[in-house]
Parts: sequence; structure tokens; C-alpha cells
Amino acid sequence: MSESRNIADYFGVDVFNDKVMQARLPKKIYEDLKATMREGHELKPATAEVVANAMKDWAIERGATHFTHWFQPLTGVTAEKHDSFISVPTPEGRVIMEFSGKELVKGEPDASSFPSGGLRSTFEARGYTSWDCTSPAFLKRSAVGAVLCIPTAFCSYTGEALDKKTPLLRSMQALNIQALRILRLLGNTTARKVTPSVGAEQEYFLISRDNYLRRKDLIYTGRTLFGGMPSKGQEMEDHYFGSIPEAIGVFMHDLNEQLWELGIPAKTQHNEVAPAQHELASIFAECNLATDQNQIIMETMKKVACRHNLTCLLHEKPFEGVNGSGKHNNWSLSTDEGFNLLNPGKNPHENTLFLLTLSCIIAAVDRHADLLRFSAADVGNDHRLGKQEAPPAIISVFLGEQLEDIVNQLISTGEARSSKKGDLLHTGVTTLPDFMKDATDRNRTSPFAFTGNKFEFRMVGSSDSISSCNVVLNTIAAEAFCEAADRMEAAEDPVAEAKQVTIDNLKEHRRVIFNGDGYAEAWKEEAARRGLPNLPTTVDAIPALTTEKSIALFERFGVLNRTELQAREEIHYEIYAKTINIEARTMLNMAGKKYIPAVVEYVGRLGNSLSAVRNALPEADVSVQTELLLECSALLSEARMAMAHLEVVTGEASALAGTDMAACAKAFQEKVVPAMEELRSPIDHLEYLVDKNLWPYPSYGDMMFQVGS
Ligand code: ADP
Ligand code: MG
Repeated sequence: MSESRNIADYFGVDVFNDKVMQARLPKKIYEDLKATMREGHELKPATAEVVANAMKDWAIERGATHFTHWFQPLTGVTAEKHDSFISVPTPEGRVIMEFSGKELVKGEPDASSFPSGGLRSTFEARGYTSWDCTSPAFLKRSAVGAVLCIPTAFCSYTGEALDKKTPLLRSMQALNIQALRILRLLGNTTARKVTPSVGAEQEYFLISRDNYLRRKDLIYTGRTLFGGMPSKGQEMEDHYFGSIPEAIGVFMHDLNEQLWELGIPAKTQHNEVAPAQHELASIFAECNLATDQNQIIMETMKKVACRHNLTCLLHEKPFEGVNGSGKHNNWSLSTDEGFNLLNPGKNPHENTLFLLTLSCIIAAVDRHADLLRFSAADVGNDHRLGKQEAPPAIISVFLGEQLEDIVNQLISTGEARSSKKGDLLHTGVTTLPDFMKDATDRNRTSPFAFTGNKFEFRMVGSSDSISSCNVVLNTIAAEAFCEAADRMEAAEDPVAEAKQVTIDNLKEHRRVIFNGDGYAEAWKEEAARRGLPNLPTTVDAIPALTTEKSIALFERFGVLNRTELQAREEIHYEIYAKTINIEARTMLNMAGKKYIPAVVEYVGRLGNSLSAVRNALPEADVSVQTELLLECSALLSEARMAMAHLEVVTGEASALAGTDMAACAKAFQEKVVPAMEELRSPIDHLEYLVDKNLWPYPSYGDMMFQVGS
């Protein structure tokens, strides 16, 4: 076992952070760069030149040979193209290491192979990456050295966003402007910036790499497409927060060290509900940085798992029958002075700014529930949402007892006179201290829950970028703040008007507040009565992106224009269709090449045994062999027919891709997904009947219970 190092000694050593910049940049350049970061101007070329040079020296000293513009195209994963630092060799044959300001600030990857949703034709392939200097450069290490990664935004030749970072930065700008207006109108004269703070909790599965490599479905699709439940699943509730087995602990330790070196404050780790499932949460950061860091966390999890002969599964539903994985997006609003607008304080009923902020967010979420739902739409997530393990596909807001009481007071009397306080918790054990409870219990079933001083959006899928949901949250909040600020500016007494806006928002949008059990069937009916949208699948949710209401919202705040939104809609349909197509083809391959031959073999053996026994002893009881043979043969022919059907519908759905992507995605959802179920069902059933020695793939039990139990 390696000796533990002191975290403080190596936290952030692979990040070109403030400390490094201060040490390595001339004072004037440092100040210029900081001002750019703070105020969002463009970086001066002369400054960029000096910064690039310092960055290069630092990176080379730490073992880097290459640099890359690291960006987040609409594929959902990060992209990079490495260039070495060497420049044209000198006449004597030496090389000089170079990295110019231009190379730091701007890059030009060939954009033609990234999804653009029709924003670019392939012959107009230009796309540019440009440095997001508010997210620090870092070194990505591998066995062969290190690469300097420069976080960048990615746009087309005509300036349309082709990535997940550009709209996020735009939405943060919009929110900042509108939130500052509110602060000024309520008398704050000192804050210079309001930024969303985001902390993501990341769930994942770990299985042995050997088993992973034996499952074609995991390799091609990230999830198991076949597999019967083992005798034990998660019903004992013994995995959640269970003691962490050593094999997993070693992985977590290695992962944490890697993340700490990258300046990512990995904080909490624990076992999750399903066997082989775990979670990692890092400490919150500014929204765009937190988004970058979450991408790095996912990448690092996969890389580190490999080193331990494990595989990290980030898919939302790797195994049917046990919980899948999600990501909680904790979101609040902080000023550059460290003040959180969502902090209720001791007496929330007297806190005008807090109540106004709260009411604006409630209004925003109700008005754009469909968009927020869309922001968590992802093929894999369709297996989780609304399935008793994750929030329903219906958006509602949980406030808790204390705030709900204040909301009720405001709505019924126009005034809030008191805040409920937490009581003393009595444990009944004299040696345990009694302590004050929180004023509100938790609710784990709400998609959007107020948790003390932040909102927690719990719908996002584990493999998804958190960019989309934050783009939506920031923009819808900006709109609600803008409307409030407009009214307050026009009023004689802005503070009195703020109170009135609060009451109006709450009255108009109280239908979205729900403190009950979001998993209950009754809630679906109640939500329908309240007129709240219920968009169960990705294909149902995608149209929300391009309603006239959404386009008006995004255009008004300069986050995404009509063309960009339409492109994104197209890409979402395309990703959906392609994913299901790959899943269907993988199933056909596994069934045709492995499962069916294995069952044929087993059925043959049963038949042989049956005739052998009959021959040897005509009066012997062969009812077991006969029943098994009949059952297996029936399931075998059911599987064969299901294969034929799946093949047909997959072909029909794919054929629509060229003409109408929405219709194509819909065909995959309505025809192919059920046909996949039809094939899975007989084969999963057969897994219980067929001799395990003949079964071609590792079982659920093998995969979920082999590491660390
Ligand atoms: P839980 O109890 O729901 O698991 P924690 O309090 O441990 O939540 O926090 C979960 C995540 O929320 C962490 O990433 C944490 O850093 C983040 N978080 C805490 N406070 C805030 C805040 N004010 N704004 C945004 N994120 C926050
Ligand atoms: Mg949480």
C-alpha cells in the first residue's frame, strides 16, 4: 500500500491556477488577465502572448509535450486534438518549443465530423475553438506523458454555438445582468457579479474489467441488453452507505488523488443503493467550472478504473431490475462578495431578497417546466425517470414545511409574519446530546428540491453533461428576474413592489409546488389535474426546445437563436435514433451469434438425454427432461421470431433517417424499443433454464457481486 501524501501539498499541482499565474506572470499581465476573467472583456493579444509563453514553460516543466484545445461538442463527450509544442526545426536541426498567444486563444479543428444539426454543410467545415479563460488550463496525464488542456468554446464560422459551453457562458452572462439589477434595486451597491454556483453528485457502477470485456452490449452500448436478475438484488438495502470494500476503496483513493491534483475538490464518497453502485460528490464551484470539472471527473473515473482492472459504467441504467445512476445538480446564486441569494437566513419571512428570488425561480420553473424536463432528456435516462428510483418526468418544486408555510401566509394574507423553527431533537439516550433539527425534513422524490440554501435538480442522467440543465436554469431565472426588475424599476417604491412581485409570482405559480411523494401514482393524476406537463420519454421532451415560447426566451437573452435551437433539436433526435439503432443491432448480434446457438446446444443435449434414457429404460420418468425441452423449445422459437421482427422494424425506422429525423426517432421509440423488449424477455427467461456452463455471457450476479462483496 502506498503511503498517503498530504493533500494540501499536491492539490491543484496540475492546474495553471491563480497561484501559478501570480508566480509566473508579470504583475501587469496578471492583473489584465484577472480583469478579463472578472469583467468578461476580450483578452488583449499582447497579454495572450505572455500568458501562452508562461503556460508553455509551466507545462513543459511538468512533463507536457503537447497542448490541446479541450472542448465539449454536442456529442456529449469532450474532444481534443493534440499538437506538440515543437515548431519548425532550426537550420542546425534543433527544435524550438513554441506556443503563441494566438494558439492559446484560438484553434481551428476540422469541424465537419462533429454533429452540427445542419448548421454547417461538410464543405463549410470551419469551426473555431476559443479559450474560456474563466476555466483554468490543466494537465491531463497518461502513461505516455502529459497534455496541456485549454478549456475552450466551439463555434462555427458564422458564430453559431456548436458545443455545450458557449450557451452556458451566454446564460451565465444573462443571469448576471438581471440578478444585478435586482440587487441594485434592493439597495445593494457593492456586488459586481452574480454567478450560479453548482455542485454535482455523480453516481456510477464499477464492475470487473474481465466481465465487461466479455459483454458485447456493455462494450457497444454501455448497458446490459439481456440478463436475468440474480437471486439477490438491492432488496436488503444493505449496500447504501455500506462499508466500502478494500478493492473499491483503493480505486476511490486513486481517483481522489488524480482529481485533487487537477484541483477538483472531490469530497464525499459512498456506496449507493444498487450492488456495485457508488457516488462521488465534489465541492461546488462556479457553474462553467463545475461543468468542466464534472466532465473531467467522468473521464478520470473511467481511466482510473481501467488501471485497477475495473470498468466504470456511467450509463443511466446498466442493469435492469436495480437502480440506475443519476446526477444531482445543486444550484445557487452567489455574488462576488460571497453572498448567496438563496440563503433564507434566520427569519426567511422577513428576507425580501430571498423571497423574491425564491418566487422568481418558482415562476420560472413552472413557466418552463417542459424545457427543464428536456434538459435531462437522454436515451439512457428514459429507463429511470418515473420508475420509483428517480424523480418522475413531471417537474415540481419541493420547498419543505418552513417555506411552504411562508408561501401560504403570503398568498392568503399578503404578508408573512413568522417562520417555523426546527424543534429540539430528543434521542432518548442521556449520553447523546439533544440538538436542533433543521426546520425542514428532506424529500428524496422531488425533481427540484430546495435544500437549505440551494436548489437540487435531481433529474439529470449520470452520463449527461450538466451543461444543458444549467443553461435552462440560468436562462429561465434571468427571465423571471428581468420581469421583476422591470416592475420594480417602474414603481415608486421598488422594495414594496418586490414584495408584490413575490406574492403575484407565488399566486400565479403555486401549482408547481409539491411537497408530497413524487413516486406515488396519485401524484401523476394530481399533476394532470393541475395542468403540469408530463413528458415521459426523450422523444416526448425534445419538442420543448423549439416551441415559440422557448425560442423567444433564448433569443431574448442571447443564449441560443432559432437556428441554433433547431440544430440542437435535430441532433437530439439523431442521437436518440442512433443509440437505439446500435442497441437493437447489438441485441440481434448477441442473440444470433451466442444466445440462440447456446440454447440450440442445450436443447440438443436435452433431446439426446431424453432419447438415451428412454432407450435404456422405457418405463423411466422423463417428465423433467420433457418439460424442460418443451419450455426451452417454445422460448427458443419465441426468441427467433422476435429477432426477425426486431430486424424488420429496425430497418424501417432507420430508413426514415434521411428524410425526417423526428419521425425516425419516434419510430425507434414506438416500434423498435418494444421489439427489443420482446427479444429480451424469452432470452432472460432461458437464462434461468439453460445450464450455466453453456451460457455465453457473464450473468448479472457475476457482474454485480464479484468486485468487493
Ligand atoms: P446531500 O446532502 O444532498 O448529498 P450535500 O450538502 O453533501 O448534499 O451537497 C451536495 C452537493 O451540493 C455538493 O457538491 C456540495 O458542494 C453542493 N453544494 C453545497 N452547497 C451549495 C450551494 N450553496 N450551491 C451549490 N451547490 C452547493
Ligand atoms: Mg443530494
